[in-house]
Amino acid sequence: MALGQLDVRPRLVAIQVGDNPASRIYLRNKVRACDEVGVDSEVHHLEAGCSQAALLAMLESLNRNARVHGILLQLPLPEALDAGWILQAIAPEKDVDGLTWASLGALIAGHPVFEPCTPRGVIMLLEREGIVMDGRDAVVVGRSVIVGKPMALMLMARGATVTICHSRTRDLAKHTRGADILVAATGRAGLITGDMVKPGAAVIDVGINRLPDGKLAGDVDFTAVSAVAGCITPVPGGVGPMTIAMVIANTVLAAERSVPARKA
Ligand code: NAD
Repeated sequence: MALGQLDVRPRLVAIQVGDNPASRIYLRNKVRACDEVGVDSEVHHLEAGCSQAALLAMLESLNRNARVHGILLQLPLPEALDAGWILQAIAPEKDVDGLTWASLGALIAGHPVFEPCTPRGVIMLLEREGIVMDGRDAVVVGRSVIVGKPMALMLMARGATVTICHSRTRDLAKHTRGADILVAATGRAGLITGDMVKPGAAVIDVGINRLPDGKLAGDVDFTAVSAVAGCITPVPGGVGPMTIAMVIANTVLAAERSVPARKA
């Protein structure tokens, strides 16, 4: 039965600690997107100097609140707080970002609870574009916990042969040139140039970089690579909006799972 018929409105609660301007923009976009699709959302603010105990207490109260389906801790946290440990306080069934160790472990085991939103957005882009992953060679540039590592696992789970490259990779171009699917997630503007891409490849640009002139750019030289690639995502307007859409999709999933199973 649909959530609407059961009178359940999915609710996402985001926590921002401090006042990082980029985080504020990300959260505003998430709230706006939730409004557009009828998902309730709210942002809880804590002072930059708040204690770890105060943040943990807030998470604990949200874990217990049955009206909250998804909890999102906006990163980065101020340096004095240990983001790695604090994230683990989010109940796995409300971890719509999919970044707790429980969620990541489940992903490795092949039983994802919530797939992390950015790689999930990338997979959906590939699927919607009809790009076959099974049996293809995929290269992921970047090995972060948020993007690179889960991205590689998720492509592998769909049958791709995956190579992970990173800042210590010796000959990046040698690897990228072999990729049918190339995902760049490094935070290095213009790292991927036209000569590094196989003709016809699907190129997904996760990077978001602020250039000196204030404009946003990805990790891929869009103009040069578009002339070679079979398809390519832009920055802005590519993976970014997909990430937000996947936060919402995971929140709806969490709300559906919160409804007790009914007897036939
Ligand atoms: P990160 O800094 O945690 O990781 C960057 C990775 O890139 C590292 O693994 C590093 O080894 C690798 N790297 C750095 N320089 C390299 C080089 N010259 N050659 C090869 N590899 C190199 O960053 P992150 O959190 O994974 O984010 C990566 C980028 O994606 C950033 O620009 C970030 O803003 C963006 N991002 C976008 C979204 C979105 O929704 N579109 C979501 C998350 C992150």
